[in-house]
Amino acid sequence: APARQNFADRLEAALPPARLALLKLIADRAHRRRLPVYVVGGFVRDLLLNRPSQDFDIVVEGDAIALARALERELGGRVTSHSRFGTAKWHIAEIRASLLKNTLRLDNADLSDLPEYLDFISARTEFYDYPTALPTVERSSIKLDLHRRDFTINTLALRLDGRHYGDLYDYWGGYADLQRGLIRVLHSLSFVDDPTRMLRAVRFEQRFGFQIEDRTLQLMHEARDLLRQVSGDRLRHELELILAEEDPLPALQRLEELQLLESIHPDLHWNPQLNDPMHAALKAPLESAWNLPETWGGAPIRRMLAYLVWFLPLPAEKSANLAQRLRLPHHLREGLKIGAELIPDLPGLLDCAPSRIVARLDGVPLPVIYALFLLNRTSEIAEVLSTYATRWRHIHPVTDGHTLRAMGVSPGPAYRRILWALRAAWLDGEIHSPEEERRLLEQLIPTKPHD
Ligand code: ATP
Repeated sequence: APARQNFADRLEAALPPARLALLKLIADRAHRRRLPVYVVGGFVRDLLLNRPSQDFDIVVEGDAIALARALERELGGRVTSHSRFGTAKWHIAEIRASLLKNTLRLDNADLSDLPEYLDFISARTEFYDYPTALPTVERSSIKLDLHRRDFTINTLALRLDGRHYGDLYDYWGGYADLQRGLIRVLHSLSFVDDPTRMLRAVRFEQRFGFQIEDRTLQLMHEARDLLRQVSGDRLRHELELILAEEDPLPALQRLEELQLLESIHPDLHWNPQLNDPMHAALKAPLESAWNLPETWGGAPIRRMLAYLVWFLPLPAEKSANLAQRLRLPHHLREGLKIGAELIPDLPGLLDCAPSRIVARLDGVPLPVIYALFLLNRTSEIAEVLSTYATRWRHIHPVTDGHTLRAMGVSPGPAYRRILWALRAAWLDGEIHSPEEERRLLEQLIPTKPHD
């Protein structure tokens, strides 16, 4: 039997009263149905590390959907479920006020102290029919449920029902590894079952300042070639979890050191020169004068900048390979291509008139220009890119298509040519006022045939 320690105090201290009261209510209803219930995984790990997190799943040793439905019948809200996985979501956003007031009797609590939904999971075990396949699922004990997890430190469970409230269930040695600071797989085929766990190992190791345990490291070396067979979508997801870490740089360095990046694709590497631009892309305040959009192609701008600073320094062909391997979104793929074409032209732009620079940079997506700015911070190129982004790209003549039409210029290619000549004159300081623009415009307008 596993060692029993009780962490009720830790739980009470970590959760806001409303969340705690709801958890206890659920535990009580489970207890009445003689169902053991637990909080497990990352929540327990973080609680024991004194880095409390708020989000927990509730694992039921039995039918989680039935428990969620019983709560729905008694208290309201709405349950959605997946019978194949034995999982249920209890949506309580709309009943939070009544839960707080009538059920939990917490008149002073804030609605936001309760989550919008809770996940209920039936303890289950998974079989992998062949390496890297998606698992087959079957109901099981908590012990086996915990066994399917990635690392021992993620196998800890705190039981909630009845007299077991706060008891730590540690079947797989997670507590000792947490104390020793070790990332350890549960069995020797773990990375074969799911090679993305190798990336997760590095992520947790670096996040907590732990060490990947020796045997686990050896298994990783033996299994790393399997990363080649993992889909781009799954790999990109794991990489993005790394990019979303508080400090992703050590993890990226460690992935390189363990040869995991090149196992994903031979062109994928990390080098310390990327640390500064990557930090600037993900963490440092973005230059506000650039007015970068918050998203690009529907994805968060920081993540897009991270990929750009990572891959733009590569030869066009390699970055295209990586974009393909990781199934990067369309905008990013295009951005990498446009950026790769621009890079060789950048030094030549240094001595050019503003209008030449604008002619070259217009049409290059702003995030691409920003990434190049970050990659060229120490050179004069950064200055040019920044002036373009913050000033030149906004400079336009007063005249527009309507003006030309009103002046009787017949619509056609002449419009573009005239408007550009005006813009270039502004950019290059040849004109400085609407009057000067007007005079230039009159010179530019083709003489009408009937004159
Ligand atoms: P984070 O703190 O980054 O959210 P977490 O430990 O909460 O980490 P999740 O990615 O939310 O991690 O996963 C929840 C739990 O599911 C983890 O604790 C882990 O044990 C398990 N898990 C997630 N991915 C895998 C995987 N690929 N293989 C095995 N178990 C996994």
